[in-house]
Parts: sequence; C-alpha cells; structure tokens
Amino acid sequence: MAVLVTGGGGYIGSHMVWALLDAGEDVVVVDRLSTGFRWAIAPEARFYEGDIGDAALTDRIFAENPVDAVIHFAGSIVVPESVADPLSYYENNTVKSRSLIASAVRAGIPHFVFSSTAAVYGTPSVLEPVQEDLPLRPESPYGSSKLMTEIMLRDTAAAHDFTYTALRYFNVAGADPKGRTGQSSANATHLIKVACATALGKRASMTVFGTDYPTPDGTCVRDYIHVTDLVDAHLKALQRMRAGGGSLAANCGYGRGFSVLEILDAVRAVHGGDFDVAIGERRAGDPAMIVADPSLAKRELNWQPRHDDLSGIIESALAWERHLARKNSF
Ligand code: UDP
Repeated sequence: MAVLVTGGGGYIGSHMVWALLDAGEDVVVVDRLSTGFRWAIAPEARFYEGDIGDAALTDRIFAENPVDAVIHFAGSIVVPESVADPLSYYENNTVKSRSLIASAVRAGIPHFVFSSTAAVYGTPSVLEPVQEDLPLRPESPYGSSKLMTEIMLRDTAAAHDFTYTALRYFNVAGADPKGRTGQSSANATHLIKVACATALGKRASMTVFGTDYPTPDGTCVRDYIHVTDLVDAHLKALQRMRAGGGSLAANCGYGRGFSVLEILDAVRAVHGGDFDVAIGERRAGDPAMIVADPSLAKRELNWQPRHDDLSGIIESALAWERHLARKNSF
C-alpha cells in the first residue's frame, strides 16, 4: 500500500515524507509548489505537481497508486493573513479539502489524517491545558477553515467506510535532526523561525506582537512542539487506523507553555548572542494563551514525545537556518 501526502513539499509535509520512507512506506506526494519546494521532497517519493482542489488530478493519483491512507497537510497557515483575506483561506483549506475528501471517498480510501490546529479552540475558557472536548470557538478564519474540515471529516466518517484522525497541532518548530529538511519559506511568520533568522542576521530586527496580554509577562503563551514528534504522531495515527481504530481528534502538544519573551531568551541563550527586538502592537487573531493536554494522543495513539526540550528545538531550527544560508537561500 502507499500513503498520499498532500503538501509534501512544505515544512511539516516534507518531514512526514522522510518519516514514512524511514518507516518503510511507499509514498506519493501531491503539491502545487506555491509555498513548498521540489527539493524538499525526498526523491524516493512519487511526485505529482498540482492542486489538491483539482479533482481530476486527485482521482488520477488514486487510480494510479495503491493508496490506503491520505495525510493531508496542504493548506494556508498564517493566522493574520486569514483575517485579512478570509475567503482565500476558506477556498484553500475548506473548499479544496472537500474536493480531496470527495475524491478519497470515490476511490474507497479508508484512512485519512488531517492537519488540524489548536486555533479551533480560540481562547480557551479554562486556564488549564486544553482537552479535546472543550467548546470549539475559533477566533480567526484560519481556525474556522480548519474546523469546517474537521466537521466534514466527522460527517463523512459517519456516512462512509472511512476513518479519520484530526491532529490539532500546537506550535510546531525545529527541523529534521538529520538535516534533510526544515522550515524553508521565505516569508515565514512563525516565532521561532523569525527569531532564529534574526539572531543569524538574516533579518535586521523582529517585533514582539503585544505585551499587554493577561499572561505572567504580558506576552502570548504557546506550547511549542518539535516537528519530529509531530510527524511521529501521524505515523502512530496511521498504525492505529490500519489496526481497526476508529475516528479521533487529538491534540499534539507537550502540555507546557512558553511566552514570546521566554522564547526570545532561549534563542539568545542557544545562539550565544543578542539581536534586535522591537515591542509592537497585538496581532489580529492571537489568543493570549493556549497549551495542549496531550493525554488523549498518548493514550489512544500510544504517542511518546521524545524531543520535549526547548533548547533542542531551537538548536535544530538554528542549524536549519544556517544550512539555508549556506545554500544561499533565505
Ligand atoms: N509572534 C511575535 N513576533 C513574531 C512572530 C510571532 O511576537 O515575529 C508571537 C505571536 O503574536 C504569537 C506567538 O508569537 O503570540 C506565536 O505566533 P506564531 O505565528 O509562531 O504561531 P501561532 O500561535 O500564530 O500559530
């Protein structure tokens, strides 16, 4: 059997492709290369360049390959961009996911893993780490666009011979420990990537978005998880569904939070030098604090995170930034 990875040229998708190949799986990738890269896709994977919303293409991929599972990463991921341009987020993340799911159902594909997000919770009503049964109240079109896909998957699983796992990612960071891939987009906006790029002088400065949140130091708190542990949760989800496990939505985080200022201190410590940081206004769509309760993923997926170490996450992110600089990339 083969696994279809959508968005396999992107940050998390390219790590997933390597992890599947390392586990001995056959891998097929579809990516339109709008933000992903051809070089990031392991050469052993069979590659189709194109759009997941192109039903003729996805039908053909399922006809040409013995796919039993889809791992669906392709989509748009920048919260403030989704606030500024909501309809493109509903197009890329919801409408095109609907087309892909319909194509999978037509082809009789039994298993589906979906990149969901902590943004489906919005600002949690509790201060404790969030559990999956909390009310889902996304605060950005990004979060809503992902939640709508979770709902489509739930209803599809009820109606068809189809099982899904929605993994709600918290803040993914770091890079492949073997240095084969990493976060490579030129206009990346994620905090650890931006801070590492600034520390290395690739960016002149960066900004802290808001210091007046109701958190211990006034900056937002997030649960940062190493990409290696995240892709491992997908492998475990695949194994569980193939063994007959039912549909599930599960958090992927470590259960502890760091503020923006704590992250910047950790980047300074690992890098061994200071860099220019400005204090700015709040950014649209950011909840003050969100941390995962990962009990369900540990119990149901038998997921055992191995890289819960902020310095290690930052070291791998810095190593990848240096690699990009040597490649004369961004
Ligand atoms: N952030 C920041 N400066 C940056 C990028 C991010 O202060 O240049 C903050 C952002 O406002 C949020 C946190 O860092 O509070 C994590 O943001 P990121 O974009 O990494 O992930 P998100 O939580 O939005 O998915």
